[in-house]
Amino acid sequence: MKVVILGAGIIGVSTAWYLLEEGHEVTVVDRQADAALETSFANGAQISVSFCEPWANAEAPLKVLKWLLRDDSPLLFRPRLDPAQWRWGLSFLTQCTDGAFERNVEQLVALGRYSHESLKSLVAATGIEYNRLERGILHFFSSQKDFDAGAAGAELMRTHGVDRRVLSRDEVLKIEPALAAWGPRIAGGTYTPSDESGDARVFTQELARRCIARGARFLYQHDVVAIEKAGGEVSQVTVAEQASGKKTVLKADAYVAALGSYTAPLLRPLGVSLNIYPAKGYSATLRLKQPDRASVVSMIDDARKIAISRLGDFIRIAGTAELAGYDTSLDSSTSRVRCEALVRRYEELFPGVADTTEANFWTGLRPSTPTNIPYIGRTKLGRLWVNAGHGTLGWTHGAGSGRALAELISGKQPALNFEFYGDLPQPVGSRLRPHLA
Ligand SMILES: Cc1cc2nc3c(=O)[nH]c(=O)nc-3n(C[C@H](O)[C@H](O)[C@H](O)COP(=O)(O)OP(=O)(O)OC[C@H]3O[C@@H](n4cnc5c(N)ncnc54)[C@H](O)[C@@H]3O)c2cc1C
Repeated sequence: MKVVILGAGIIGVSTAWYLLEEGHEVTVVDRQADAALETSFANGAQISVSFCEPWANAEAPLKVLKWLLRDDSPLLFRPRLDPAQWRWGLSFLTQCTDGAFERNVEQLVALGRYSHESLKSLVAATGIEYNRLERGILHFFSSQKDFDAGAAGAELMRTHGVDRRVLSRDEVLKIEPALAAWGPRIAGGTYTPSDESGDARVFTQELARRCIARGARFLYQHDVVAIEKAGGEVSQVTVAEQASGKKTVLKADAYVAALGSYTAPLLRPLGVSLNIYPAKGYSATLRLKQPDRASVVSMIDDARKIAISRLGDFIRIAGTAELAGYDTSLDSSTSRVRCEALVRRYEELFPGVADTTEANFWTGLRPSTPTNIPYIGRTKLGRLWVNAGHGTLGWTHGAGSGRALAELISGKQPALNFEFYGDLPQPVGSRLRPHLA
C-alpha cells in the first residue's frame, strides 16, 4: 500500500517506521526543515509508563479554580471565545470522577506497556543513541499531604500491575543523592525502576533518517494545504513547498493525520471532529557546570509538577500547562514568568550545579484530549486514519502508537487492550466506550 503521513513528530515518524516494517510505501510531509521541530523538540524526556495519571480526576476542578489567577500555576486555563476550548473544558469535567479516572488509567497503562516494549525492540534493532538513561523515574514530595496522596496514587498504579514503590526520605536520597541539598524538605517519594528517559528530538530525527534509508520519502518544508474528499473517502492531499510555493498532489491508499495539536482544526472541515486542544508547556535546558553533582535519575518535583531529566551534559526542566489557544510565543509576560520559575526552582533544588545564566527556553503545544487518551485508528472517512492527541505522554506512547496504527492499517489487531478510534473490531475483552469526540 501507498501511505501518506501528515506530520513528522514522534508520532508520525514512529508510524512511518512501523509501516515500512509492514512493507508499505511511505511518504511523510512536514512544514518544518527536519523531524521533531515542534512539540517533540524539547519535552520532559521521560518514558513514563507508570506516571501516567490523567489530569482529569476528582480533585482537578477545585485545583484548577484555585490556580485560575496565578501566572505560575502548574495548570492555567485562560478562557477564550473559542468553542473548541469550551467543548474540551466541558468534556474534561465529565472525566473528573473516580470511575472515569480509573478507566482512563487502565487504557494509558496498556498503551504505555505496549509502547515501552516496542521502543526497547526498536532501539535494539536500530542502535539509535539519544542520551537514554534506564534509571527509573522518581517522584518526590515536599509536603506530607502531597506525599500521602502520592502514596495512594502508587497503590492505584500497583493494582494495574505497575511497580511503583513508596519511599521514605532516606530511600529517595539513596536513589538520587544529588537531591541532598533539598533533602531535609523532602517528605517522601515514589519510584518506578522500569521507567526511563532520553531525548525525544534526537531519537525522532535519527529514526526519520533510518526511514529515509529504507526508502521513505520525506517532504520537509511543505505545508499541508488541502485534504480533499470524494464519495465518502479522502481522494488526495495537496501540499505546497514553502520556498517555491509549488503545489504537489499526493494520492495514496491510506492517509495518516499525525499533526499533533493541528490535527483537529485540519480535519474539522472534513466533518471529522476530534476533541484535541493545545496545552502549552515550557522547558528550560541548562548546561551543567558540575556534571558530577547533577542528578541522573529522571524526576518529577510534585510541588511544581515539573519533570527534571539528565541529557548528557545538560539538564532539562519541563512542565506547566496553559490552555489558551495556539500561541507558541515565549515573550509574553506569562511565558517569562513560567520560564523563569523553571530555572529558579532548579537552582533551589540543586544550587550551583547548572549554568542558570544561559537557559535555553522552549515552548510546545501538547495535543491534549480530555481523557489524556490519544486517538489511534480509522476515521469515518475512507482511507483517512488518525494518530494524534497524545497530550502529556507522546514520547512515552510514540513507538507503541506508531506500531499499533501500522498494524491496524495492515489489517492486523494490535496486541493490547485499547479502545482504538473508529469502527474497527475491538480486541477480545475490551470495553466499548465512546471516545470523547
Ligand atoms: C513541556 C512539555 C513536556 C513534555 N514532556 C513529556 C515527557 O516527559 N514524556 C512524554 O512522553 N511526553 C512529553 N510531552 C508530550 C510530547 O512531547 C507530545 O505528546 C508529543 O511530542 C506529540 O507528538 P506529535 O508527533 O503528536 O506532535 P508534534 O511533535 O507537534 O508533530 C506534529 C508535526 O506536524 C507538523 N505540522 C502541523 N501542521 C502542519 C501543516 N499544516 N503542514 C505540515 N506540517 C504540519 C508539525 O511541523 C510537527 O512536526 C511533553 C510536552 C510538553 C509541551
